[in-house]
Amino acid sequence: MSATGGPSSPSRRAELVANLAAVRQRIERACAASGRSPDELTVVVVSKKFPVSDLRLLADLGVTDIGENRDQEAGPKVRELRDPGAGTGSGPGEGRGTGSDLAPPPLTVHFVGQLQTNKAGSVVGYADVIHAVDRPRLVTALETAAARARRRPKVLVQVSLDGPGRGGVRPAEAPALASQIATSAHLELSGVMGVAPLGGDPDAAFARLRTVAHGIQEQFEGATWISAGMSGDLEAAISNAATHLRVGTAILGSRPSLR
Ligand SMILES: *Cc1c(COP(=O)(O)O)cnc(C)c1O
Repeated sequence: MSATGGPSSPSRRAELVANLAAVRQRIERACAASGRSPDELTVVVVSKKFPVSDLRLLADLGVTDIGENRDQEAGPKVRELRDPGAGTGSGPGEGRGTGSDLAPPPLTVHFVGQLQTNKAGSVVGYADVIHAVDRPRLVTALETAAARARRRPKVLVQVSLDGPGRGGVRPAEAPALASQIATSAHLELSGVMGVAPLGGDPDAAFARLRTVAHGIQEQFEGATWISAGMSGDLEAAISNAATHLRVGTAILGSRPSLR
């Protein structure tokens, strides 16, 4: 992270422009290497621990999808982003109501973190996509919350690619969980998500995820998404049919340890 300037300083903007361009170039190269088109990929910029000012800059630079991993942080940030007039942190002239302001472009909000059942109600209130769904009780809680909120979030089955540790259902259990989601009236089964094992081979891990994804797609044709790949392994994800990349550090810099 750059230490220069304030949160929305010109230098921060320039840094984000350069980082976005570098990531786009990596995506283009990886796509060329596997005969894919970059149009097939959505970059979810994981903005955890970074301020709302960065999210505004990213939206201004054409980013359409953002990801968060903790409800306590994500809820207030998304509320401030979507309704700047209601928050406390907005500066003069940033609120709504001048009449000439263009509406901010709609941002798709992805919840990418491990989700506790008792946070389902809160997360369903603002997340458009929930990535890490990995157990029947969580599906039940999300369905109840979504029905109550009259929402219908997209949901991905998190598949464990490294045994226990980083969450996810075992590959053999993924189809049953997908089926439970698909039959939940207020949840839209959109596909699968995986996190490569720390220190392992991301290519082998994402190849396993692809196999699980295709098995689920045979039964549920709408389940076309494969959320895989982060800053360090997005090339391996692209060569294994990923549709969504979750990129934090490579775009925003190292996460601040203090918030
Ligand atoms: C933080 C996070 C990311 C982004 O990781 P980077 O290595 O910073 O790109 C992706 N996925 C999940 C689930 C995360 O929590």
